[in-house]
Amino acid sequence: MRTTFKYRLYRSKRDKHLIEQIEVAASIWNHSVALTRRYYRIYGKYPGANRLMKHIARLRRRNPYWQKLGSQAVQDVIQRLDRAYWRFFSDPKAGRPRFKKRERYSSFTLKQAGWKYPGGNRIRIGKHNYKFVLSRPIQGEIKTVTIKRDRVGRLWICFSVVTEEQPKPPAPHEAVMRPVGLDFGLKCFLTLSDGTKIQSPEFFRRGLQEVRKAHRALSRKQRGSNNYRKARVRLAKVYDRISNQRRDWFFKTAHALCERYDFIALEDLNIEGMKRRWGRKVSDLGFGEFVSILEHVARKRGVRVAKVARFFPSSRRCSCCGWVKENLSLADREWTCERCGTVHDRDENAAINICREGASFLGVGDVRPPEAAVAV
Ligand SMILES: [Zn+2]
Repeated sequence: MRTTFKYRLYRSKRDKHLIEQIEVAASIWNHSVALTRRYYRIYGKYPGANRLMKHIARLRRRNPYWQKLGSQAVQDVIQRLDRAYWRFFSDPKAGRPRFKKRERYSSFTLKQAGWKYPGGNRIRIGKHNYKFVLSRPIQGEIKTVTIKRDRVGRLWICFSVVTEEQPKPPAPHEAVMRPVGLDFGLKCFLTLSDGTKIQSPEFFRRGLQEVRKAHRALSRKQRGSNNYRKARVRLAKVYDRISNQRRDWFFKTAHALCERYDFIALEDLNIEGMKRRWGRKVSDLGFGEFVSILEHVARKRGVRVAKVARFFPSSRRCSCCGWVKENLSLADREWTCERCGTVHDRDENAAINICREGASFLGVGDVRPPEAAVAV
């Protein structure tokens, strides 16, 4: 399994060497973007990573500034660009790779050469030694080392390692005993098919207010001024703290769900569509990030996850008799089935339907609604 260990680097005078290498990488990126575009204008096609690599290597021989970055790290820049271009070719919505300002380009990666790690919290990069906060031990065989600068200007070191740890195989279908369906919402972050409601914690709301405040402060400053720069760092810091807290809560929630259930069904979210329907607030809540964290945790713990197609009418179908209510608006939190008379909590009903749909999709078997919900 491939994982990443990320640590904060201690600040030191030698940081300037790392920052310089990030900037060299930015310069090479921008040069390669320009080359690719020029090549396309002349020949009408993409030059490909190999041709770019050769060309950049030739230029680098005459350019002492570029030589400050090791040849493998240069290769990595070209490979990143190559991946970005292939992403763009397969999905034009991903956008054409762009020029990046030096402060926007944030990292470089070393493969086998250019670093030495004797263990502990010290590492040698190029000709200099650095220390980092070893918050947890590194496990596995180190494949690459990446130096990263965040928006606040702090430096981080990321070790990409290969571990022997295998993800737990998911439980066989017959063994699935505790299924659950999840419904995401604005009013309540998660509603489970057993009726449990999980609210997003209060710091979400408070944090968003802080982010907005920092944004407003930034917009009042004059671009390019010292105060502007300070306000930008402040915004980056606030944002960084909020997203860390949120991520932490996502992980805890995902673990709690995987502890209690061995099969999780959820809606295949279409964030763009949700934004159109509900507004920008959707991206603040981070549903997409939560889903990928949940999938990651579930894979590790051998919990099955099924995604139910979006057009499935999860909120409008009665989970007792299958009747579909045609005119259900977003404001209706509760509704009554006209055929069987059951009173439904909108989100819980949706979660039950999602659970059942997911289960039938996987062939887990018949997951019946709870008895209590049937009789009225
Ligand atoms: Zn009904």
